[in-house]
Amino acid sequence: MNAGGAWCAPLAKSVGVDLPVRPRRRSAFVVSCPTPIPDMPILIDTSGVYLRREQNHFLCIVSPSAERDLDSLPLDVQFSEFDEIIWPTLAERIPAFEALRVEHAWAGYYEYNILDQNGIVGQSGPENSFVAAGFSGHGMMHSPGVGRAMAELLAFGEFRTLDLSPLSPARLSSGQLVIEEGVY
Ligand SMILES: Cc1cc2nc3c(=O)[nH]c(=O)nc-3n(C[C@H](O)[C@H](O)[C@H](O)COP(=O)(O)OP(=O)(O)OC[C@H]3O[C@@H](n4cnc5c(N)ncnc54)[C@H](O)[C@@H]3O)c2cc1C
Repeated sequence: MNAGGAWCAPLAKSVGVDLPVRPRRRSAFVVSCPTPIPDMPILIDTSGVYLRREQNHFLCIVSPSAERDLDSLPLDVQFSEFDEIIWPTLAERIPAFEALRVEHAWAGYYEYNILDQNGIVGQSGPENSFVAAGFSGHGMMHSPGVGRAMAELLAFGEFRTLDLSPLSPARLSSGQLVIEEGVY
């Protein structure tokens, strides 16, 4: 059972499977704003900048441009993404955000499925080999469903309550891609 996240491809290779999943760095910034905005909804700007409230702070992220989005870059926070893209974008939309202050930041890897930016779930390669990986930066929200479905597949040999067959590894070679357009 390969649930290796951003590192699932090298593990898959050990059983002869080529998974199109790459570690792609994303920097996350936790910011504060002197003006309280208690009812701030999740915001996704057309530039790809997104922001959501985290108690008294906000979390914001933007994906780098395609030419800068290389595999396995070192996990150094890219403060230039905040200064040059996130901050001006948010300040233009919401004047109070002109005074944003970065409180904390970190970088992590999206487990980026380069074909359709969706999870890869099911049997793959040798008969007793399974995968649940490649969720492309939205795997936390998938995790309860994927956990349940995989438990059923392993225990009963089939999905019972949730049919995750559209996410099967076989789709990657059959052209039945499930393109996720909401991944930034
Ligand atoms: C900045 C950022 C923001 C995100 N925001 C969101 C969000 O808002 N909503 C959301 O739903 N998702 C979000 N995600 C994505 C989410 O974190 C991932 O989709 C999710 O963690 C993937 O879960 P996973 O179990 O597949 O992989 P992981 O959580 O990465 O777990 C994989 C595990 O496998 C281990 N491993 C790897 N190789 C081996 C090996 N050979 N042997 C043994 N163990 C191994 C690793 O150490 C790791 O513990 C975000 C990710 C990032 C980086």
